[in-house]
Amino acid sequence: MIALPISIQMRILWTLAMGTVFVLLVQYQSSNVWPQQQSQLSNRLDPVAEDLVSLALSKVVIDDDMTLSKEVLLGITRQIARYVVYSSGCNVSPVNGSPSPSTIYIITPTYRRPEQIADLTRMAQTLMLVRDIHWLVVEDSEAKSQLLSSLLHSFGIRFTHLTAPMPKRYKTTKGAKPKGVANRNRALSWIRENANDGIMYFADDDNTYDVRLFNEMRYTQKVSMWPVGLCTKTGLSTPIVENGNLVGFYDGWIAGRKFPVDMAGFAVSVKFLQERPHARMPYKPGFEEDGFLRSLSPFEPREIELKADNCTKILVWHTQTKKNEPSSRVDVVKYKNTNIIDLKRIIV
Ligand code: UDP
Ligand code: MN
Repeated sequence: MIALPISIQMRILWTLAMGTVFVLLVQYQSSNVWPQQQSQLSNRLDPVAEDLVSLALSKVVIDDDMTLSKEVLLGITRQIARYVVYSSGCNVSPVNGSPSPSTIYIITPTYRRPEQIADLTRMAQTLMLVRDIHWLVVEDSEAKSQLLSSLLHSFGIRFTHLTAPMPKRYKTTKGAKPKGVANRNRALSWIRENANDGIMYFADDDNTYDVRLFNEMRYTQKVSMWPVGLCTKTGLSTPIVENGNLVGFYDGWIAGRKFPVDMAGFAVSVKFLQERPHARMPYKPGFEEDGFLRSLSPFEPREIELKADNCTKILVWHTQTKKNEPSSRVDVVKYKNTNIIDLKRIIV
């Protein structure tokens, strides 16, 4: 092995890094993904994605005598950020004549429990990689949590923090509860009052989302659907597709449902929703999705837009975080004037 001087090694490293960037850019430029939007988008990148890529680039070693203007670096950063956020394993293409991709309203019911902040943090870190979203976080509570509010601010994602407690009569009943229904209906009425176009998607706080999922749903005309990975015996909830056509539904629990699908498995165009002022989710455990989709009538299964490459890819998982008991009280005398007191305020 010939030992090369350090400065030459650096130069090679730098050349390799720039080469990679170049290949990515060429791939992106020639990919024809949303060609008409490139110029419009150049100044509207998700700042968080930009930060992530900046950070990655700052790790690249630059030789002392090589100088790059800030402008050039910023340009490269933006291009890569766009590549990272838009690149997709699926064949996503705008429907003919559809306008530029619009906002996705992500509806997330949530409630106070030991896992809440961890779940929401994980979810937010995913959403930070997705552009043009508006996160509607709806607490099952009478009042907004201050802690949650500052957490939401810290992510830099466009969001609206709402509350909608589960009606008392359901809280006290034994057996299955209509979880997250009041929250989702609250978000639906917010959308009715505040949005005319875009897409809405019900995204629970404990699921696992592939960032590419959001590109799939972005061009929904009426209602789009895709497979959801489950961690159950059935393993899967998805439309069944044969020769490109919907022929039924695969789900562990059909139960006479017209739309036997998972909450995470569909998105609806806001325009379509606005034309159906009575659409809402019923307080009926097990039938929330079916009830909501039926309330979009007139709407039939044959009108479903199949996504994720004709439902051959899994881009969302209905994961569940293990339920935990609240932590025990802390000895306020023993830990007086220490960080433990502050930290315990975050913990349930
Ligand atoms: N949820 C809620 N209040 C509750 C129980 C659940 O707001 O009393 C929310 C929860 O944060 C989640 C959604 O409703 O976003 C569905 O609840 P969960 O994840 O427990 O349901 P599962 O995954 O078991 O269907
Ligand atoms: Mn869940």
